[in-house]
Amino acid sequence: MKPFDQATAIVCDALATLRDNAGALPRASRESLERLIEAKAAPVTVAPQTPVVENAPQPATPKTSPAPPVPSPSPVSPASGDKAERLEQLRQQLLACQKCTHLVSSRSHVVFGVGNPEAELMFVGEAPGADEDLQGEPFVGKAGQLLTKIIEAMGFARSDVYIANVLKCRPDMPPGESGNRKPRPDEMATCLPYLIQQIEIIQPKCLVALGATAMEGLLGQPVVMRDVRGRWHDFKGTPLMATYHPAYLLRNQSLGEKRKVWEDMLQVLEKLGCPISAKQRGFFLPK
Ligand code: URA
Repeated sequence: MKPFDQATAIVCDALATLRDNAGALPRASRESLERLIEAKAAPVTVAPQTPVVENAPQPATPKTSPAPPVPSPSPVSPASGDKAERLEQLRQQLLACQKCTHLVSSRSHVVFGVGNPEAELMFVGEAPGADEDLQGEPFVGKAGQLLTKIIEAMGFARSDVYIANVLKCRPDMPPGESGNRKPRPDEMATCLPYLIQQIEIIQPKCLVALGATAMEGLLGQPVVMRDVRGRWHDFKGTPLMATYHPAYLLRNQSLGEKRKVWEDMLQVLEKLGCPISAKQRGFFLPK
């Protein structure tokens, strides 16, 4: 097969995968299609062949190996439409993602994200757990219910903010084992471009990373929670607050730990320019 035909076949396969998995027509701009058609019509330049001399020593040819798997396309920035439309285009790309084959075969749902596409505040968790995998929505289990309470104590509804995870598929578990495992750095690095696209579309005024693993996924390096919590960081130009994961608060129910998270949220409210009542300022202080 000529290189161009090979490339066209790869593009067509990727589009077919998108169509089959996303249940939506693959989209391409008119300009891209015209360029593709023009390219197909243009003669393919082939490098001049070295004449083959019979019995001359031939350069070593690589052993024929099976064709590499067609990678899922990297998320392409959906350029048109309002934020909701662009998020929907990205969601369709994500639903077709096959990058982590081990997670593709174990997942029930790809968990894209939920909330207001115009949100000023965006929470980032690590990965879906069992409940989220079943329902296709982030933070719906026990930790998620606590996150919703925190959001409401801040004066928002869950639907006012945006909630997403670094990893969009539930980390798989060994057969017969229940519970959740932490996403691995390589899994988070593979998935991070989708989260970056979400942030670029939503353009929140600030981000909150829930827990060390979410923070590590965002920064691409290990962090010590004691050092990063309660401080502002920068994520590609967006202020990023690191706080404890709500699951940590479920395990450590002391007033002191709750207050730490609450103080982080007070900083977030200040950054957003939201009014803070005296009652809110006093939450989780010892009586
Ligand atoms: N924990 C997370 O980090 N994300 C979820 O969606 C649920 C639990």
